[in-house]
Amino acid sequence: MKVRNLPFDPGVSGWTQIMPAGLEYPELKQSQTADVAIVGAGFAGLSAARRLNQLDPKSRVIVLEARRIAEGSSGRNSGFMIDVPHNLGSKDYLGTLDDDLQQISMNREAIEFANQVADEFPMPEDTFSIPGKINGAASENGHKFNLKFAKHLDHLGERFEWLDAKTMKETTGSDFYLSGLKMPGTAIIQPAAYITGLARGIYTSGVEIFENTPVIEIAREGNRWKLKTPAASIDAERVVLAVNGHVESFGYFTRRLIHIYLYASMTRRLTQDEVQILGGESRWGLTPSDPFGSTVRRISGAGDNRIVIRNGISWAPNRTVSAKRMNRLTQAHDRSFDARFPQLGEVTMDYRWGGLLCLSRNSVPAFGELEENLFSACCQNGLGVAKGTLSGKLAAELICGSSSPSLEYFRQQAQPRKLPPEPFASIGGNLSLRWGEFKAGKEK
Ligand SMILES: Cc1cc2nc3c(=O)[nH]c(=O)nc-3n(C[C@H](O)[C@H](O)[C@H](O)COP(=O)(O)OP(=O)(O)OC[C@H]3O[C@@H](n4cnc5c(N)ncnc54)[C@H](O)[C@@H]3O)c2cc1C
Repeated sequence: MKVRNLPFDPGVSGWTQIMPAGLEYPELKQSQTADVAIVGAGFAGLSAARRLNQLDPKSRVIVLEARRIAEGSSGRNSGFMIDVPHNLGSKDYLGTLDDDLQQISMNREAIEFANQVADEFPMPEDTFSIPGKINGAASENGHKFNLKFAKHLDHLGERFEWLDAKTMKETTGSDFYLSGLKMPGTAIIQPAAYITGLARGIYTSGVEIFENTPVIEIAREGNRWKLKTPAASIDAERVVLAVNGHVESFGYFTRRLIHIYLYASMTRRLTQDEVQILGGESRWGLTPSDPFGSTVRRISGAGDNRIVIRNGISWAPNRTVSAKRMNRLTQAHDRSFDARFPQLGEVTMDYRWGGLLCLSRNSVPAFGELEENLFSACCQNGLGVAKGTLSGKLAAELICGSSSPSLEYFRQQAQPRKLPPEPFASIGGNLSLRWGEFKAGKEK
C-alpha cells in the first residue's frame, strides 16, 4: 500500500526556535531489520519506543520520522498535558461518572509516565512541571461555563480553586479575565524540548531513530512487514503506526477520522521593561472556559520571556492547509493579544504556525492491532499530549502481552464512527466550527 499523503504543517513552531538545537539523527540510507518499527516520533511513537525499551530492552526498536524530531504537532502544541478534560461541551465529558473517572485516571497515568521521563532524562522546570492550569473566563458566558465545570468537578471529587478578577490580574498581568478556575493536576511542558529530550533519552537507551525518513509504502511480506522509505527499507516483525490522523494516509480508518488544523503565535522576547510593565507571574498556563476561546501561556526560561497564544481552527479532510489561510488565522492572534495585553502594544509576534489534530465523531482512539503484528496508536482526540503519550505506552504493552485496566479500556472502545458522505461532512464540519468560534465571542 502506497502512503497517500505525507505530513505537512504550516509555519515554523516557535518552540523549536527558542531552545538549543537537539541531536541530529541520520536519514535511513541502508535497509535494516527490526523487531519493532515505529512510524512517527511524536508523543505516541516516542512513548511506545520508551515503553518497549523498558519492557523488553533486548528487542531492536527503530523509530522512523518523516521530518525532524519535534517538527510535527508534538512540537507545535500549547503544551498542556491535561488530567481533567476541559471541553465541557464535548461528548468526552458527558459520559457516565465512571467513564469520566476512568478518563481522568488514564490522563494521570500519562502524566506520571511523562514525569518519570522528565526525571530520568533530566529536564528543567521550564520543559516539564506540574503547576496546574487555569480555566480563564473573560465574559459572563465564560464564567457560566466555569460554574458548570466546577459543579462537575465537585461531583467527581476533584480539587479546584476559584480565582477572582484581582487574582487573575495578579497572576497574568491582564485585567481581561473576570474569573478563573485553577486545577492543580495539569502538567505544563515546552513541547518541542520535551519531545527532543525524550528522543535523546531513548536513543541513549538503545532505540534507533531515523529522521527525515518518511515511510512511503507498507506491505506484508510473509509473516513480516516491509516499510519502504525514499532510500531504503525496514523489514520488521511488528510495526506501530503512531502517525495520528495520517493513519488514514496508510489506508486505515478511511472516512472515519476528522482532521483539523489549530494555530498558534509566539511573541518576540519581552524586554525587562516590558516584563515589569506586564507584571504577574513569570510562568502560567490558561485554557479558555469556552473550548473555542484562546489558550494563553506566559513562558520564561534563561532570561527569555514571551507569550504564546492559540486560537483558530480549520477543517482539513485532505490533511493540508494553504499558507494564505494560516496567515489569515494567525494574524487574528494579534487582536486576541492586544485585547489581553494592551500595555504591551509594541510587542510583535516572532513565530506563527499551525498543526494538524485528529478527532473521531464518537471521541474514541484509532487504537489496536489492525492486522497481524500491525498496531495503531492514533487519533488522540482533544487531549492529545496526554492521550498520545498513553496510547503509545499502551501499544507497547499490547505488543509485550501486558495487561492493565487502561489497556482493557482502550481495547474495548468502539471503532471511530464513519463520517457522513461528502460534501455533507465538510459543510457540516465547517459550519459547526464557525458556529463554535462565533459563540466563543469575547473568549477568543
Ligand atoms: C497549535 C496546537 C496546539 C495544541 N495544544 C494542545 C495542548 O495544549 N494539549 C493537548 O493535549 N493537545 C494539544 N494539541 C494536539 C496535540 O499536539 C496532538 O494531539 C498530539 O501531538 C498528537 O500526538 P501524536 O504523537 O499522536 O501525533 P503527532 O504529534 O502528529 O506525531 C505523529 C508523527 O508522525 C509523523 N509521520 C506522519 N506520517 C509519517 C510517515 N508517512 N512516515 C514517517 N513519519 C510520519 C509526523 O511527522 C509526526 O511527527 C495541539 C495541537 C496544535 C496544532
